Amino acid sequence: MKEYNTKQRARILSVFESNPSKSFTAHEIAGLLPDIGLATVYRAIPRLMRDGYLLKVPSGQEAVFQYRDPGLCSGHFHIKCVRCGRMMHIDDRISAAISEQIGKASGFRLLNSSILEGLCPDCMEDAQ
Ligand SMILES: [Zn+2]
Ligand SMILES: [Zn+2]
Repeated sequence: MKEYNTKQRARILSVFESNPSKSFTAHEIAGLLPDIGLATVYRAIPRLMRDGYLLKVPSGQEAVFQYRDPGLCSGHFHIKCVRCGRMMHIDDRISAAISEQIGKASGFRLLNSSILEGLCPDCMEDAQ
């Protein structure tokens, strides 16, 4: 039973992993994996987040998740476009500089899991 769950979780993770710049809701993942039920996806997601493989992307409605490389993404922040949902990595050195400035100004330490919000270049062009 345990092994079975692990296999399902690995398949759920592989959907995220093969689409690293896309974000998905639990419903969308369940839709892509017809033999894995929505309840299983709901159980797997918090576990994958805890293990550092998924980021929860701020979203107005249903919770949306995106792949996070546990090795690559531990040292930086991410920025998400509020219009199209695209998420980008912020360079490690820039992240460290932001963190330091915010720390100096507020005494707070930003968590590496922080996601900033903004408009991506494409959406900014559309808005003009
Ligand atoms: Zn990253
Ligand atoms: Zn955008």
